Amino acid sequence: MANAKQSATNYVNQVFETVKKRNPNEDEFLQAVSEIFHSLVPVFEKKAVYMEHNILERIVEPDRAISFRVPWVDDDGVIQVNRGYRIQFNNTIGPYKGGVRFHPSVNLSIVKFLGFEQIFKNSLTGLPIGGGKGGADFDPKGKSDVEIMRFCQSFMSELFKHIGPDKDVPAGDIGVGSREVGYLFGQYKKMRGQYEAGVLTGKGLNYGGSLARKEATGFGAVYFVKEMLQDQQDNFENKTVVVSGSGNVATYAMEKAKELGAKVVACSDSDGYIYDKNGINIDTVKQIKQVEEKRIKEYVNQHQDAEFISNSSAIWDIACDIALPCATQNELDKDAAKRLVENGVQAVGEGANMPCTADAIETFMNHGILFAPGKAANAGGVAVSALEMSQNSLRLSWDFKEVDDQLQKIMANIYKRCVNAATEYGHAGNLVMGANIAGFEKVADAMVEQGVV
Ligand code: NAP
Repeated sequence: MANAKQSATNYVNQVFETVKKRNPNEDEFLQAVSEIFHSLVPVFEKKAVYMEHNILERIVEPDRAISFRVPWVDDDGVIQVNRGYRIQFNNTIGPYKGGVRFHPSVNLSIVKFLGFEQIFKNSLTGLPIGGGKGGADFDPKGKSDVEIMRFCQSFMSELFKHIGPDKDVPAGDIGVGSREVGYLFGQYKKMRGQYEAGVLTGKGLNYGGSLARKEATGFGAVYFVKEMLQDQQDNFENKTVVVSGSGNVATYAMEKAKELGAKVVACSDSDGYIYDKNGINIDTVKQIKQVEEKRIKEYVNQHQDAEFISNSSAIWDIACDIALPCATQNELDKDAAKRLVENGVQAVGEGANMPCTADAIETFMNHGILFAPGKAANAGGVAVSALEMSQNSLRLSWDFKEVDDQLQKIMANIYKRCVNAATEYGHAGNLVMGANIAGFEKVADAMVEQGVV
């Protein structure tokens, strides 16, 4: 047994060293790989077959990484150039699936970390989807609608060569909502000369989108935390909740938490956070962010008791029972985690991808805080995207309740899979390990079955 543990540890360390050498300066990617690799030691201890097939070295290398120029003309007639990416990471259990992010911070490391995580997240949903991710270092803030359209068209003029309903199915992410998906879809259709609804998800309802897709990630994250609380004979009622971000995931996480009886007292954008002791008015947030496309600080103009603090990371100073980081990667560090613990936080659910740093997660674990990792907790979005693909194949659309009911079942099932995997491998209650292990095993088994490809 001691030997098995030693050889599993050696194997993981040795592959991680190779990954570090091969991917220098890719901090976010290495952070995501490190977390998953270290969760897998007990798996390799028990199942040497994965080492014999060298699954780690194979799974950590994307099938392909595409990078391309995106030229477009702004409203002043000036030619602009951005860089686009699509990482097709792993299609062992289905076509590549994962969103596209438009944000100035996008680079190869970020797209690779997101694509790598997506393999395991998609596997956890139980649906037939592989892992991929894309994006561009384009900043949609302050751009006119026509500039956004021109950018999306240029981006798709290259991307269309690489995607398809049975090949690679992008969706939205930060900076890419239904407007952008619409422009991307329009251009794809024009380039291909045929109607392939299933090539993108997060589409508008008029042309093949699914009801409940826009709500799915936020609702799903709350459903996951609800399962965690239920296991402790607890629920959302009368809980104080803090949610970071005020975009797609944050808005619908707030809405569902409120519907389940919680009081959401704060949310944020990258300029700062708002605190409303009476509970955030979600309609006001939607009006400001989705309709007027303004900054969250506008909220205080309409709610006298609310305050705006121009420091978004200080949102974690607020005492709460449940914290839902729903903005971006590494937004909650060790100090923030300590403050949350000191202030009595009970549960933390990652609506965003990798919002908590590794030492923040360790802090939560060491203090027995219920912790829902993003890979599992925010998988509701991609799960409903897969349901959108199913509806497109059937040329049918399901009603909101049908999709939402399926989402709830999927989230409950993901929770069970995480709990069971953690328990099976001797780490009961550690959902980080449970999510990584359960997501990994399905893909790894399928890789073994499919041979060296
Ligand atoms: P979004 O609609 O673009 O919203 C992102 C929000 O986060 C915006 O309010 C943004 O504010 C805010 N933000 C960015 N950086 C921040 C910071 N440092 N501090 C505070 N707020 C900050 O994006 P989204 O779709 O909600 O995605 C949010 C996260 O969820 C990402 O990690 C994404 O990968 C993950 N996710 C999304 C989905 C999905 O279905 N959309 C699915 C799974 C995971 P500004 O307006 O100031 O930029």
